[in-house]
Amino acid sequence: MTFDQLPLTAPFLRALEEEKYTHPTPIQEQAIPVILEGRDMIGCAQTGTGKTAAFSIPMLQLLNTIAPGKGRRPIRGLVVTPTRELAMQIKESLDAYGRHCSLRNTVVFGGVSQHGQVNALHRGVDILVATPGRLLDLFQQGYVKLDQLSFFVLDEADRMLDMGFLPDVKRIIKLLPAKRQSLFFSATMPDNIRQLANTIVHDPAFISVTPAMSTAERVEQSVYFIEHPDKKYLLLHLLREGNVRSALVFTKTKHGADKVSRMLSKAHIHAEAIHGNKSQNARQKALKNFKEGITRVLVATDIAARGIDIDNLELVVNYDIPNIPETYVHRIGRTGRAGASGEAVSFCSGSEKSFWRDILKTIPVEVPVKDASAFRNAAAEEKKADTGNEPNYKKKVEKLLQEEAPSEEKKGKRRNRNRNRNKFRQGASRNKQRDSR
Ligand code: AMP
Repeated sequence: MTFDQLPLTAPFLRALEEEKYTHPTPIQEQAIPVILEGRDMIGCAQTGTGKTAAFSIPMLQLLNTIAPGKGRRPIRGLVVTPTRELAMQIKESLDAYGRHCSLRNTVVFGGVSQHGQVNALHRGVDILVATPGRLLDLFQQGYVKLDQLSFFVLDEADRMLDMGFLPDVKRIIKLLPAKRQSLFFSATMPDNIRQLANTIVHDPAFISVTPAMSTAERVEQSVYFIEHPDKKYLLLHLLREGNVRSALVFTKTKHGADKVSRMLSKAHIHAEAIHGNKSQNARQKALKNFKEGITRVLVATDIAARGIDIDNLELVVNYDIPNIPETYVHRIGRTGRAGASGEAVSFCSGSEKSFWRDILKTIPVEVPVKDASAFRNAAAEEKKADTGNEPNYKKKVEKLLQEEAPSEEKKGKRRNRNRNRNKFRQGASRNKQRDSR
């Protein structure tokens, strides 16, 4: 099927052509006609299936048929999504698919000043994309009015609940006009999600496109059993030998993300870290650099990486093995988007083996074990082959890597030394002043 076989109008077919989308994905094929008929819908689909376009394009087309009245435009479409990154991506998609129509959209999320967001709302928008907390904040302050809303999308409902947003979501639903079209998306549909869906949609069409683990089938996976101290060498080896242009590396902790990113930078591999301790602006900048290919490796924690959508991401590395199998599937799903193939490599240490076993129980594919000794041999060979005339890059890197951060004991001694030095300087300057009097 091609897009022009769907009931889409010219401005949208043109935008899709410009986006170089040739064929609708299964969720787009099924959801677009249903939504254009004005029906409510429950969509069971993960990110990577093309679900954003599946709801954005028909929403734009429907709202575009009604000309905006006089005065400030009222919000007529609302998309609520759990994370800032997802919210920004949805806004970007709306911009792209709606570039040939005259609808305005904006995005609001927490963690940044509300000033710019309030200004955009003042100018009037047709579609608002929002995370739950900031939406409620702005509503309470009177900057968001939802009385004219006719189209509502709740995105990634299961993650919304995982992140503790259920009370906020319930509050938001109470603010919406009863007469509206509602779409509800979730990657999984356990009972509590289904119950929530039933409070939002009315006589919905039910569309399910991905068996829960299809990501795992699409992405080429492998695992190395390797102890933690060796992981950095393996990562360097994979990035350099595989000539990888873009890799997303997952670590368990924020500290770990910083450490890996520093280690790569020292080895002259352009890397940046994103995690919850970084400001929103720093995260956005890092993401932008990565998307534009300025940064080769993005090192991230799970929360920070939620919803990150990077076209042509070559490699996902599980530097630490997640203790929840679903997290593994979400991580590897960052590569191999919208039917493309991708690669995911996991580094599993002895203490992480039980997590790995849990993952294997839940994914429907065998994951080949790669021989970690092969990598060690390759590194040794490389050293041997070094003529001595060339700068010995590997040795240099290893030396840099061995420069461990100062131990607590050393740090304490250094602090004392500095304190004594300062005391001495202060005393000396006091003596000087006294002498000069
Ligand atoms: P989503 O599941 O909405 O996060 O989309 C995943 C990725 O697929 C995004 O990078 C989209 O730009 C891309 N995409 C969506 N629909 C199509 C399509 N029909 N053809 C090619 N790429 C698509």
